[in-house]
Amino acid sequence: MNIPYRNLNLDELVVKDNAHHFHPFTDHKEFHAAGGARIMTHADGAWIWDGNGNKLFDAMSGLWCVNIGYGRKELAKAAYHQMCDLPYYNTFFKTSTVPATELADKISSLMPERFKQIFFVNSGSEANDTVIRLVRQYWALKGKPDRQVFIARMRAYHGSTVAASNLGGMAAMHGQGGTPLPGFEHVLEPDWFQHGGDLSPDDFGLKAAAAVEECILKVGADKVAAFIGEPIQGAGGVIIPPDTYWPEVQRICKRYDILLVADEVICGFGRTGNWWGFETFDIEPDLVPMAKGLSSGYLPVGAVAVADHVSDVLFDKGGEFYHGYTYSGHPASCAVALENIRIIQDEKMVERVRQLAPYLAKKMSSLTDHPLVGEVRSQGFIGAIELVRNKKTRGRFDDPGRVGGICRDHCFANRLIMRACWDTMVFSPPFCIGKQEIDTWVNLARTALDHTLEDVKDELA
Ligand SMILES: *Cc1c(COP(=O)(O)O)cnc(C)c1O
Repeated sequence: MNIPYRNLNLDELVVKDNAHHFHPFTDHKEFHAAGGARIMTHADGAWIWDGNGNKLFDAMSGLWCVNIGYGRKELAKAAYHQMCDLPYYNTFFKTSTVPATELADKISSLMPERFKQIFFVNSGSEANDTVIRLVRQYWALKGKPDRQVFIARMRAYHGSTVAASNLGGMAAMHGQGGTPLPGFEHVLEPDWFQHGGDLSPDDFGLKAAAAVEECILKVGADKVAAFIGEPIQGAGGVIIPPDTYWPEVQRICKRYDILLVADEVICGFGRTGNWWGFETFDIEPDLVPMAKGLSSGYLPVGAVAVADHVSDVLFDKGGEFYHGYTYSGHPASCAVALENIRIIQDEKMVERVRQLAPYLAKKMSSLTDHPLVGEVRSQGFIGAIELVRNKKTRGRFDDPGRVGGICRDHCFANRLIMRACWDTMVFSPPFCIGKQEIDTWVNLARTALDHTLEDVKDELA
């Protein structure tokens, strides 16, 4: 592999970055004080290099997205050829392009029969904004314009636009950008480790599902438009719901005639060991927003798959749906997504995740003997390590996020990228890794945990 950044003037770049780069999800005061950005230069497979030449194992696939791994030139070539042929044309006003049409057909072919219609967007946030507008329009056309309210979970992440941040359940995000919008309710998240107390996981799963029904009754079923959930909550700390949860939520949605939206932005395209998270949990959604894994992050693209009984209402009643983005179905992004899906299929990557998942789970679980680790859980190639001060009571450290942050920094220093969601270390590695890389990774993680323990051992109870 060629290393294009050998003569990088890193100091100068960091000065520029501090001077002009307004980073997302960053405390700038703390960030500048700590010296600014670690600038990444190139990557291959599951490994990424920074400007100092450090080679890091990326157990997060970027931001849960580089599923096929870095360095796949086929995707670069697909973008190059498409840009040479037709860099841009829109999909408004009765036009399309070859890749947009092919990708709609391809996504539909990967889904259950009823998902025949695919609406293109550029990100997960836009996918969820589209869901909100589309679902409300659906109910209006059905003569039930009062069905406006979306029910989501606490600590859900559905994106960062004004609507998507209100839809999500991140309290810190609700506290910024003005008064929370009306029409969004948040219920107990199915996180047994955090909230389960003395209940068995199965009993707790039923309790969390009951919270959905309580919310419907509180709001009034005739006012609820949809329930939305990530099959596994990602940014909330990889919350894998107990087995009892989703079937019960499904039953409740059916009972009150409420649409069910499965946010597959992380789970889709193989992450959980099946093409879709809704297959892993046996959910029957009506709408499916997707993004990240659709292009493995090589270019921005997202979509919303819409079930027949929803699109039929929007189509049959006629009238224009006044919604879309300049780059909906961008030809280069769609060409890259098609190539990404071809690779996943040809290289049987979903099967690979399923086959390797038990090995990954077993190796990761070996960390449960560590004094800091309260639980290790995973499903397919997504999982979490809970850091606790008391293993028996699942007791947390003071100031949630502090110890997680310490651990994340030790990971980075130790050439491993894992993310901290408060004091939950999460992982979501590329599908291309093998057993040897899993072994290397678990060793790096143990070292980072040991270093974290040195820092906080006085706090253990
Ligand atoms: C990342 C994410 C989003 C938002 O996607 P963007 O592309 O960042 O807008 C939405 N839903 C889930 C589940 C996500 O993880």
